[in-house]
Amino acid sequence: MLVSPHRTQRPWQGQTEDTAAPATLAYDPTCYLCPGNARAGGAQTPKYTSTYVFENDYAALKPDLPAASADIGDAGLLRAEVERGVCRVLCFSPRHDLTLAKMEVADIRLVVDEWARQTEELGGREDISYVQVFENRGAMMGASNPHPHGQIWATESIPNEPTLELAAQNAYLADHGKCLLCTCRDIELAQRERIVAENDAWIALVPFWAVWPFEILVLPKRHVASLTEFTDTERDLFAAMLRRVTSGYDRVFDTSFPYSMGLHGAPSDGAEHPAWHFHAHFYPPLLRSATIRKFMVGFELLGSPQRDLTPELAAEALRRAFARAS
Ligand SMILES: [Zn+2]
Ligand SMILES: [Zn+2]
Ligand SMILES: [Zn+2]
Repeated sequence: MLVSPHRTQRPWQGQTEDTAAPATLAYDPTCYLCPGNARAGGAQTPKYTSTYVFENDYAALKPDLPAASADIGDAGLLRAEVERGVCRVLCFSPRHDLTLAKMEVADIRLVVDEWARQTEELGGREDISYVQVFENRGAMMGASNPHPHGQIWATESIPNEPTLELAAQNAYLADHGKCLLCTCRDIELAQRERIVAENDAWIALVPFWAVWPFEILVLPKRHVASLTEFTDTERDLFAAMLRRVTSGYDRVFDTSFPYSMGLHGAPSDGAEHPAWHFHAHFYPPLLRSATIRKFMVGFELLGSPQRDLTPELAAEALRRAFARAS
């Protein structure tokens, strides 16, 4: 990670983006995620009153395929394999005009419970090794519909990011006899330079290795591998932390802050993962205003990620924004 704080004053003459106006209707008759509406493909969304889960009508992964693999050309260099899986959509609320930032903590708790239920159900299947819960928020992050919703993709193999994280956490435990993220937690709590929010069970911080300007890692204080293992109180406090982070984000540039958010729990491949420490990532693209985003180009694509704003200064800006949030 290359950090270049001397570049923060450089003038910007590049692209700015239009900000999508926030949804203002509690019910939108043209929204396929609003209760009672028809979805493309003919399915009907029921008149749900809390959270609602359904199989993605245009799923990227399908469960009912025969196992198959093929070598293309010589020596196993190019190899194709069938990847089975399940894609579901989770509506956070029947209200079209809400976001996690605007929902009551008690209602976000219901979303947390549904994430845990989905992780348990899908992760319990023989043909699933990883359950990835995520949310793309905002048109800038490719969200096709402002209705508050996230996705759950469950796959037969462990995807790339959790595979790397598993290897790193296993290696750290083997080399040091302690958990990588517990160690990070202790450093952050001692230094307090990169922490942006804290409650009795969770901390939110800008990681030392953050790539995105206002990236946040949400970490439970206790060493827990999966959402399914949290106590009632820890789930309540996770919901409260998600509300705090998302509502705080909205005050950074006084705009509905776009991001990709995802939960990283331990793989459900049948093995024990004592080194795994549950966490949530927030990857927001905005850099300097509601319309100026960071691009991952040039040296970042070809060499290493680079940032101008130090993680410590980003944390300071976030703490100021969070103080102004409700
Ligand atoms: Zn809607
Ligand atoms: Zn740990
Ligand atoms: Zn992770």
